[in-house]
This record gives sequence, structure tokens and C-alpha cells, in this order.
Amino acid sequence: MAPNGPVFSAMLQEFDGAARLLNLESGIWKILTHPKRQIIVSCPVQMDNGEIEVFTGYRVQYNITLGPAKGGIRYHPDVTLDEVTALAAWMTWKCAVAHIPFGGGKGGIICDPSRMSPRELEALTRRYVAEIIDAIGPDKDVPAPDVNTNAQVMAWVMDTYSMHVGHTSTAVVTGKPVELGGSLGRREATGRGVMLATREAARHRGLELSGMTAAIQGFGNVGSVAADLLSAAGTRVVAVSDSSGGIYRAQGLDIPALLNYQRQHRHVAGFPGSEPLAGQGLFSLDVDVLIPAALENQITMRNAPDIRARIVVEGANGPTTPEAHRHLHERGVLVVPDILANSGGVTASYFEWVQDRHGYFWTEKEVNERLEAKMCEAFDAVLKTALKHDVDLRTAAYIVAVSRVATVTKMRGMYA
Ligand code: NAD
Repeated sequence: MAPNGPVFSAMLQEFDGAARLLNLESGIWKILTHPKRQIIVSCPVQMDNGEIEVFTGYRVQYNITLGPAKGGIRYHPDVTLDEVTALAAWMTWKCAVAHIPFGGGKGGIICDPSRMSPRELEALTRRYVAEIIDAIGPDKDVPAPDVNTNAQVMAWVMDTYSMHVGHTSTAVVTGKPVELGGSLGRREATGRGVMLATREAARHRGLELSGMTAAIQGFGNVGSVAADLLSAAGTRVVAVSDSSGGIYRAQGLDIPALLNYQRQHRHVAGFPGSEPLAGQGLFSLDVDVLIPAALENQITMRNAPDIRARIVVEGANGPTTPEAHRHLHERGVLVVPDILANSGGVTASYFEWVQDRHGYFWTEKEVNERLEAKMCEAFDAVLKTALKHDVDLRTAAYIVAVSRVATVTKMRGMYA
């Protein structure tokens, strides 16, 4: 039976729209709406107080038709199998849009890392990897960081896997420290991809980055890098926000100075020379491009009617509700969907995996040039599809992704 949880159903809604336009045959439709594998494991860990706790972990390989499963591992108290399965499906479509030889996967452990010591987190990570060891590997499934996991956790994943197979295997996981086989440019890749998607979308609308104005929600890994690169390209970034609040400067914020300020103060509020922006203020600014790069469900029917930007580039995953997306599209706002706009991260992960497998590492310039080529190729394919089918870019991205996976599924045929 196909999964039917609320998050998976939201994924299916997006999938169904594209599948219908593609006239996808019913057998392929069934295959693409079922996860290939869902693994549930119990991970006992001896806590620092001597007690044993048992944590539930998941790894879902949604589709591996195009290559090894690819997707992060998240540590959060609210992790569910429904959410992990939907996220693994979204990774399938994101990798297919990015045109990289990966399927989609995702993992999660129900835990609260803010209440765990580094030793407990390491023990949990190693036990989880040991429990899923037969399912992962450079040719099978290549995890990466996600919510509350980082380069250190990936180093533990890589070490545990390597100990089990008896040799050092760097390509089993991406998002590792550079010293351990991580890629230069990986940390900045998602924000760089967002800047490139913005540039391509702007060109489609007859605009150039230089001289444009932008507002960016979220000043973390994705938002701060996108802000920095856009401002270096001549875009006036007039507003940014983080969980401390928003700031505005009509002449454009000095982003390098703001990055320094944020490093010292850990937030953007109070940046000298800026005015505070209340609540939802950032969404109604008269700017060329709005970049939600913080959380999901930020653009809803509560604020979409106030949006004056001509282009919205989804740096975050799922920042726009389906109703708000429809509303923006009907008003002529160009929305660059998450599976395209933030695919720079997984593309750079693919580069990390390629470099690890070759044992030959590229310069940061080479990584950035290849990333630019892949992002432009992906944007072009989605734009052409949107124009051909007269649909929005989100539907077009799904059409590109689903048709790529469906074509290879049919070519490979049915093994029975
Ligand atoms: P992060 O934790 O580094 O940064 C998140 C930022 O959002 C922080 O500045 C935080 O203060 C801000 N924020 C949180 N709540 C906010 C609110 N209510 N209003 C305004 N700002 C708020 O996270 P990140 O890695 O930059 O990821 C951001 C989004 O991009 C997430 O949706 C993530 O899934 C997505 N994404 C990230 C990557 C990646 O490589 N990091 C790749 C693909 C997608």
C-alpha cells in the first residue's frame, strides 16, 4: 500500500499534477508513488547517567532507479516515517531535476540532540549506522547532513562504515570535513545555487543582478551566502531577517559588514545603519526578488497578496503553500521552486562523491564552475518545459524530474 501520511500526501499532490500532464502510464505511476525501501531500526545507547535509552531511527530509499539513494539524516524529536518518506521522495525529484546520477533517500532519528552530550550523540550515530550498514555504501545509499546533523556527525558515519567494511570509505557520505574527503565549495553551494537561479530567473524577466533589489528571509547557511554573492554581483540587498527579527536599508545593506556583525552578535538585529523591520514586513517590500531561505510554510495566503516582488526564489524547502503558490503564479510572479533553486547543495554533494571515488580533488574554482554549469542546465530544462506546457516552474520541474525517472524505469524494464 502506498504511504498516506499528511506530509507524503502533500508530496503526492505535486507529483500528481506533473504525472497527469505527462500522461504517465498507470504502472509507472504506481511504481513512482511507492518507496523502494523503508528501514526502521531501534538504537540502544548507554546514556551518560548509565541508563539505557532506545531511539527509533529510519532510513528510506524512495527510488534508486537513477543511482544510489541520496539524502540527509535529521535528528529531531518530531521525526516520523511519513516525513522521512516524503523527504526521500522530494530528494528523488531534486536529484532528477539537477540531472545527477542519484536516487532519493532520507534518514532520521527521533531524538532531542539539544539534550544530549557529544558522547551520547556519537554513540547514537554509530549505532544507527551499524543498524543500517547493509543498506548504505557508495553504490547504494549516500547520506548527508540535515536538520541538527553536521560535518562531525558525517565523520562518525564515515568512520563507523569504514570500520565495518575494513577499509577507509570516504564516498559513503557527503558533507564531511574537507580534511576527510569533503569538497571545497560544498558549504557555500546551496547559497551559490540560489544566486545562480536568481540570475537566470532575472534574465528571463529581462533583468540583470546588478541594479536589482532583493529581500532575504533567513541569514544562515543558505541565506547569508546568497546575500553575499548577490551583493557582490551588484544586487542591492535591502532587507534580511533571521529569528531575531528583520533589518532594512533602502540604499542596500553592506553585506560583508553584516556578516562580520552577525559573527560577533549571532544575529542581524541592531546592525548599525539599518532600520528594524517588524514581523511580516520583509514579505511586502517593493523589491525585484524575494528569497525565503529560512523555514517551510512562510508564504501563505496571509501574506502572499502583499508580496510585491516580481520573482520569488525558494532557497528553503517548502517555503510556499500550494494555495499561495497558485495565487502568486496567477498574479504573474515567477516562483523558482525549491527542488530547482536549492539543488546546488546536492549537486555539490555529487561532486564530493565523484572526487572521493576518484581520490582526486578539485580546486574551489573548478567546483564553482561545474556547479554553475549544472545549475544553468537544470534551470534551462525547467524553463523550456514550462514554456512548452504553459505551466509554472514548479510543475515544470516535476515534469522534468518525473519524466527522467519514468524514462529510465521503462528502459530498465520489469524484473520479476
Ligand atoms: P540555517 O539553520 O543555517 O539557517 C536558518 C536561518 O533562518 C537562520 O538565520 C535563522 O535565524 C533563520 N530563521 C529561523 N526562523 C526564522 C523566522 N521565523 N524568520 C526569519 N528567519 C528565521 O539553515 P540553512 O542550512 O540555511 O537552511 C535554510 C533552509 O534551506 C531550510 O529550509 C533547509 O532545509 C533549506 N536547504 C538547506 C540546504 C543546505 O545545504 N544548507 C540545502 C537545501 C535546502
